[in-house]
Amino acid sequence: MISRLLLALLASAVSLAAQTTVFGTKANEPAAPAAPAAAATTAPATTAPTAKVAPKAAEDEVDNTVVITPFRSLTPPEAKSTRTFKLSKMNKLGATETSKDLQRLYSAFATQRIVDGSPSGSSKATGYLATVNYSLVQDLGDNRFLAKAAWPAAGPNEALAAGVDTMAILLLDKPGKVGDTGKITGMHVGTVALLFTAAYPPLVGKRLTLRREAFVECSTLEDSPAGLQKFVDAINAGAELSTTTNEQIACKKCGGLGFTREAQKGQLLDKRIPCAECASSGKVIISVETKFVP
Ligand SMILES: [Zn+2]
Repeated sequence: MISRLLLALLASAVSLAAQTTVFGTKANEPAAPAAPAAAATTAPATTAPTAKVAPKAAEDEVDNTVVITPFRSLTPPEAKSTRTFKLSKMNKLGATETSKDLQRLYSAFATQRIVDGSPSGSSKATGYLATVNYSLVQDLGDNRFLAKAAWPAAGPNEALAAGVDTMAILLLDKPGKVGDTGKITGMHVGTVALLFTAAYPPLVGKRLTLRREAFVECSTLEDSPAGLQKFVDAINAGAELSTTTNEQIACKKCGGLGFTREAQKGQLLDKRIPCAECASSGKVIISVETKFVP
C-alpha cells in the first residue's frame, strides 16, 4: 500500500530522473545555483543541496521539470510489546478484556487505518497519520503541491516532529490551486528530495532542491458503533487485525517501586537506589501491539 502511495507521489519523476542520468552530470561540475534552498526554508534539518542541475536547457528556456525522489524513508510505528485481546473472554470474571477497553482500542484502530480499495475496505497505515493544515505555495502537477503546513508531532519520542509553518510536499486527492488553504488527514510517507523551479517570491525562477516531509491525503475509518460491529464481525470471521497503542505498565526493572535495593554491609537497612529506567515513577509507557482473536 505504502509503496503504491509513494509511487503515486513520485510517479512523474521517474522518467525525468532517467533522462537526467542519460544526459549525465560531470562530477566536478561546480555546485548548482541551488544554494538558497536551505536559507529559503524554515526546517532546521535541511542541508545544502548536493544534486547537480543536469538538464542543459537552451538559453533563456526555463527548466520547469519537477523531480521528486525518496530521501529518507519514513519511521514506521513500531511496537515494543504485544498482547492478545480475546473477544470470547470479554467481560468474563477475571478477564482483562472489557468492552470499555475494546471501544478504546477500536478508536485507536480506526485512526491507524486508511480507507482504500482493498477487500477489507481499509489497510493498516504504514506511516504516522496527522492532521495537516496547509496553504498551497506551488503546484507541482498531478495533484502534488509544495505547501506551508502545520501538523502535530506523532509517534513514540516524536518520531515525526511537529511542523509549524513548515514547507512540505503534499499529494492531495483533488486538484487545488496556489493560495488554497485547507486541512487533510495526511499519512507521512517519509522525506523526499524535490528538484524544481520555484514560482513563488522571492525565489521565482530559481532552480532548487528542497528536502521535505511528504504527506499523502487519505481518510481513516469512522469511529462509530457500526464500525466497531464490523470490526468485531471481521475478527470473528478470521481477519487478523491489530492496533498499536501507548500503554502505561509497571516498570519491570524495579517492580513498580521506583527504586531498587542494595544490601549494605553491617547495616540493617538496604540502600535504595532510584530507578533510572522509570525515573523513579515505577511506571513506564511503552507501545503495545494488541492482536485481536475471536
Ligand atoms: Zn523502575
